[in-house]
Amino acid sequence: MASNPNSLAARDIASLIHPYTNLEKHKETGPTIMARGDGVYVYDDSGKRYLEGMAGLWSTSLGFSEKRLVEAATRQMEALPTYHIFGGRSTEPSIELAEALLKIVPKGLGKVLFANSGSEANDQAAKIVWFYHNAIGKPLKKRIIGRVRGYHGITVFAGSMTGQVANHIEWDLPIGGVLRTDCPSHYLFGEPGETEAQFVDRLVGNLEALIEREGPETIGAFIAEPVNGAGGVIVPPKDYFPRIQEVLRRHDILMIADEVICGFGRTGQMFGCDTFGIEPDIMTVAKALSSAYLPISATVISEAIAEKITAHAGKIGNFAHGFTYAGHPVAAAVALETLRIYEERDIIAHVQEVAPHLQARLRALAAHPLVGEARGVGLIGALQLVTDKASRTVLPAAAGIGPLIQARAMERGVIIRASPDAVFVCPPLIITKAEIDELMDALSAALDDGLAEAE
Ligand code: PLP
Repeated sequence: MASNPNSLAARDIASLIHPYTNLEKHKETGPTIMARGDGVYVYDDSGKRYLEGMAGLWSTSLGFSEKRLVEAATRQMEALPTYHIFGGRSTEPSIELAEALLKIVPKGLGKVLFANSGSEANDQAAKIVWFYHNAIGKPLKKRIIGRVRGYHGITVFAGSMTGQVANHIEWDLPIGGVLRTDCPSHYLFGEPGETEAQFVDRLVGNLEALIEREGPETIGAFIAEPVNGAGGVIVPPKDYFPRIQEVLRRHDILMIADEVICGFGRTGQMFGCDTFGIEPDIMTVAKALSSAYLPISATVISEAIAEKITAHAGKIGNFAHGFTYAGHPVAAAVALETLRIYEERDIIAHVQEVAPHLQARLRALAAHPLVGEARGVGLIGALQLVTDKASRTVLPAAAGIGPLIQARAMERGVIIRASPDAVFVCPPLIITKAEIDELMDALSAALDDGLAEAE
């Protein structure tokens, strides 16, 4: 593939370590190099067009050619290309963005800390949990409950809160301080004959037992994504979060909502918290905050936590935490413009209009011989791949069917994502019904390819 040593492909292989890539195999296959974007489409360097059915990494909400974001970045670059917010300095975009966020986040949240990525926002959330509990004189109340399959990023502590084996084995993670509870997928983890209501009862009971066993006085917070994306697009049963939160409240355990994927309309409401009845004490956002045009994330904390940490920092004489680029003015200006576009174009109404079409097309594929369950909400969805529908036998990773379906869809000019046993869609929020048909037609054909090659 990369016989010419001066080709971009050869230079890529010679110089780059790619995230989430089989590095050995990459030496043979080389990269797909994306060169430009237009709406929901991206084009590779040979000019081939792809419908980006994953919005990049679940992130590019406004598509790949939103000029207003380019202009917002340019204006800010010309005025003040960089500055920081340490030591009480500030910039107009970081102030305006914090205000704009606080207008739309769930009630009770009152202050914003900026960061640059989802992992950092979650790491920062954990540190706030620790600092807060020191502030209120509960220095033992520090451990954080994460969930099996949860994905919160890959920095040392976010990676520890992440509940995925691949992020742990060979990486010496998790480090201490994390407890683990169940993944709320009834399809994958329900016991034979167990109803969804019984399943939720069991999960709630398991959480209660875990907390009692480990001691509530040692547990500071619980972290969850409203819809877990990378763990399989796990849509929880309707009463799961209210029931879980009731247990947490009783034990004085904070709720951290990781809205890195769900935030800003993905689930059909502004936040996954709104869709699933979550009342967070801390919320993290990234990705669609800036339509992923520039790296920026935020940890939004309750007014109650903010008051305590402010007083504690006052006592210590410093709040010794913060990233050089926190609230970076260019990233903040782009994020602010992104939020303005969401409001002006009523992106939530658009999602509510087109999402039923995506969900209906996904559900129709539940009849496919390879598909055990079609699940999703808003503009995010997944097909669970199985070898046997009746016993819900999940396709073994070794069969390689998920990646094969992904490759066949890509040949057809559509980007979806596969895990070994599921395929995912999460298109830009601006997608039209006709583009949804294009995406789903290609996915359907790629599933047929997968079936033909599995047999
Ligand atoms: N949290 C969730 C729910 C995510 O999906 C991701 C990334 O996909 C992260 C956190 C980590 O974000 P980042 O890759 O920006 O560090």
